[in-house]
Amino acid sequence: MTGVVETGVLGAKVEEKLFQNRYLVDAGRPHIKVRPHDTPSKALRSLTYTCPAGCYSLNDKGQVEITVDGCFECGTCRVLTAKTGEIEWEYPRGGYGVLFKFG
Ligand code: SF4
Repeated sequence: MTGVVETGVLGAKVEEKLFQNRYLVDAGRPHIKVRPHDTPSKALRSLTYTCPAGCYSLNDKGQVEITVDGCFECGTCRVLTAKTGEIEWEYPRGGYGVLFKFG
């Protein structure tokens, strides 16, 4: 016995598992939208570092923008902005969005 364990997919790093997922873009119909704003609330701004897919960013005016490609549909942004109402969130249409592999 060598002590070497074949780990396969179960032993893969999170990044390797996430790479297995696929995303089907519903062109022109994003399932999440950021409402127009001048200055984002703390909650909205926090999405630029809490979204696990990195969908949110700040533009050169300091406003928060979203690119939904790659969204995991985890709902974090929906929960964090529930009180401020700064985003519109719905699931993608059937057949679009993230296609999970291994889970
Ligand atoms: Fe990011 Fe999750 Fe919101 Fe998708 S649902 S944009 S992955 S925080």
